[in-house]
Amino acid sequence: MKKSAVFFDRDDTLIKNVPYLGDPSLVTLMPEARESLEKLRNHQFKLFVVSNQSGVGRGYITQEQVHAVNQEMVKQLGSDFFTEIYSAFSAPGSLFDDGRKPNPKLVLEAADRYEIDLTRSYFIGDRLSDMQCARNAGCHAVLLLTGDYQDEKTEASAISDYIAHSLKEAIDWILSDVSRS
Ligand SMILES: [Mg+2]
Repeated sequence: MKKSAVFFDRDDTLIKNVPYLGDPSLVTLMPEARESLEKLRNHQFKLFVVSNQSGVGRGYITQEQVHAVNQEMVKQLGSDFFTEIYSAFSAPGSLFDDGRKPNPKLVLEAADRYEIDLTRSYFIGDRLSDMQCARNAGCHAVLLLTGDYQDEKTEASAISDYIAHSLKEAIDWILSDVSRS
């Protein structure tokens, strides 16, 4: 049987957003990130990160800096929860699109490689592009009201399956949704 997965946005979902973050010393976990991931892992979900890091495509930071930030996040989480951490480095409007959300490319790649049933999987993020990516990939969309993108909230809410004020609330909803189906 195919597996279920939860895909996470990174910035303002797992760690606090710092624009074009390239310095691992500035990594701060979101509240209850560790406990939330632990719960999902205990329920046999495969966990992935799918992050837009256009700072690379814009020339502000390097891929190595993004990897260093990701490593610091994993270190602070205290466990290697993620099967894969995917990043899209292209800038918006770039002719070369390496899977920048809302493109579902990286989610589809993960589903193919790890035999994920996307209809039983979830995407959690704080931006409209996260919700669009979830829709485009065919998984459930969970909107976190943690980010600063107030102008996107109405549109993002309209295409999400659930709206949560915290990671804990998002994960509790996913687990209740799973038990209902
Ligand atoms: Mg985000």
